[in-house]
Amino acid sequence: MANRPQPQFPEPNTEAYWEGVKEGELRYQQCNSCGEIVFYPRQHCPACLSDDLAWKASKGDGTVYTFSVIRQNRMPGFAELGAYSVAYVDLDEGFRMLSSIVGVEDPTKDIHIGQRVAVEFEEQDEGEYPIPVFRPVG
Ligand SMILES: [Zn+2]
Repeated sequence: MANRPQPQFPEPNTEAYWEGVKEGELRYQQCNSCGEIVFYPRQHCPACLSDDLAWKASKGDGTVYTFSVIRQNRMPGFAELGAYSVAYVDLDEGFRMLSSIVGVEDPTKDIHIGQRVAVEFEEQDEGEYPIPVFRPVG
């Protein structure tokens, strides 16, 4: 069961990101002025303040930077997950995102820093936007 919170629209900064997710694409931004890789999505480059940002598609391959395991969460959408991970993943294109590592038997033992992971898009029982999560590879 997956019933995680959904984005609320209108929301101009992240709408293109969520439309990408619906198409199975993990999008990030790159500044056309200075080349900075930008994530999370926003209006202006955090390095040079230019508003000339281009959308790019990540291959979705990355490395676990760090993680934690939540053993109990009473919030609807999470309460029935059991123990689950919250992880920072460094994508190969040069941005870091907060997500979850899925597809492991025991998140307290089967996830480690430096582990290679790949994005997948978790369909939700309610709501049209899948949630990007990561699964170990290799
Ligand atoms: Zn810039």
